[in-house]
Amino acid sequence: MGNGGPVVHGYPHLETVRSAITALYRRLSYDTVHTFATSVAPADVAFSDQDDLHMGAQRVARELVRHYRLPDARMIVSFREMEHAASVELAAGPEYFIELNDRFRTHRRDIGAALAHEVMHVYLHRLDLSFPGTRDNEILTDTAATYLGAGWLLLDAYREDAASSQKLGYLTPEEFGYVLAKRSVAFGEAPETWFTSAQAYTAYTKGLAQVRRDEQQPPLTAAGWAGRRRYAKDRRYAQDHGMRGPAPAGPYSFSAEGPQGRGGLRVAFPCPTCHQRIRVPVRGRVRARCGLCRTVLECDT
Ligand SMILES: [Zn+2]
Ligand SMILES: [Zn+2]
Repeated sequence: MGNGGPVVHGYPHLETVRSAITALYRRLSYDTVHTFATSVAPADVAFSDQDDLHMGAQRVARELVRHYRLPDARMIVSFREMEHAASVELAAGPEYFIELNDRFRTHRRDIGAALAHEVMHVYLHRLDLSFPGTRDNEILTDTAATYLGAGWLLLDAYREDAASSQKLGYLTPEEFGYVLAKRSVAFGEAPETWFTSAQAYTAYTKGLAQVRRDEQQPPLTAAGWAGRRRYAKDRRYAQDHGMRGPAPAGPYSFSAEGPQGRGGLRVAFPCPTCHQRIRVPVRGRVRARCGLCRTVLECDT
């Protein structure tokens, strides 16, 4: 887990974040994802500077092991001087050694955030789910931790004032907010009251706005007027030019159906919940159901 440096904002990793959500649904299935309907409760990972350091860290690690349902896994947490914020040794188990940066000795309230990330590494390791390259794999880890109910702690560890800033994990605050908002919508949760950090709350509201934009892309019926107009123009172009024209700028794409395209046009677009691509025929109002996350999609194609 990274440490320090200026805080990056916005959505530089958005495509990888979306791929990570799709990969989670594919690897875990809808049913398993939905066993994580309840997030880690703030009280269960609370850690004050008066608590015993080692006993407290073990207690919070056990709580995360329980949350991620790693029945026989045991986390051995230790502290040392290191460049990174934290790291975990991914061995065969059942014992896993997690090292936390010495600075957490005096920042105990953020130990839950660091462990939410490191224990998720163990979870993904046991699932044998990874993305190639360190950067993408770390984004997968933060996204999975957040989507499965523990990563809000990582967002809440983000604090910024005139003198200093702190952020844990690889996602930007807005990206953490985005994944958390995706989760809130999918599970009907309201994490607004959990935050101790005002900046984290703000990042969550920005992420939620981005989630609403995903839900308002054509051909979804919730699309706004400008999007629908652009979509109609792109569709007309695809109908007139077949697949010879340039690809539309929107998140959707058109393709010909059947042999020699005689069956008419189809449109493909990302599911706003899991981002798997959905393909439906172009014929006005269409109701589709995403096979991966089971979201019902009202479309005007
Ligand atoms: Zn990591
Ligand atoms: Zn879906």
